[in-house]
Amino acid sequence: MKNGTPASCPGCAATGRRVDDSTPGALLRPNAKARLTGGGYRFCRTESCDVVYFDEGQELTFGTADLEVTVFQKSSDPERPVCYCFEHTVQSIYDEVGARGASDVPEDIGEKCRAGLDDCEHNNPQGSCCLGNVRRVVKEALRARGDVGKVHGASRGCCSGSGESQHGS
Ligand SMILES: [Zn+2]
Repeated sequence: MKNGTPASCPGCAATGRRVDDSTPGALLRPNAKARLTGGGYRFCRTESCDVVYFDEGQELTFGTADLEVTVFQKSSDPERPVCYCFEHTVQSIYDEVGARGASDVPEDIGEKCRAGLDDCEHNNPQGSCCLGNVRRVVKEALRARGDVGKVHGASRGCCSGSGESQHGS
């Protein structure tokens, strides 16, 4: 590490979250994957920053165009995935909430995770459970509908590094 802030994104200076070494390998396009060296990658979740992964030596960065999937945090496309393991999109959650004023998606994901059916480390660019993001989308959809109802389901991600929900809700 050549400077004092190995955890800071070279693009926006925000602190990136460490991902498993296998996460970029699973999600990068082949030509970007060929640039991977060693380990120690972090994920930048800043919406306006194009850097998705950077290494702690800050010599190597991968942008949104280097990934096979659309990064939830860095897109405003309603068709983008929010749950990468079970293929829920922002739009599909808005549609469900719009139709019935509630969403079973957080509970459904929680159950499938408990059954061990998820593989967040290799499906989700952030390398951890999506539940925090899903709950935020459900809340936004309820608010857009003029409803401030409760979001049911597990309040935390199911796996280590529980998504975006660690600041509580
Ligand atoms: Zn950044």
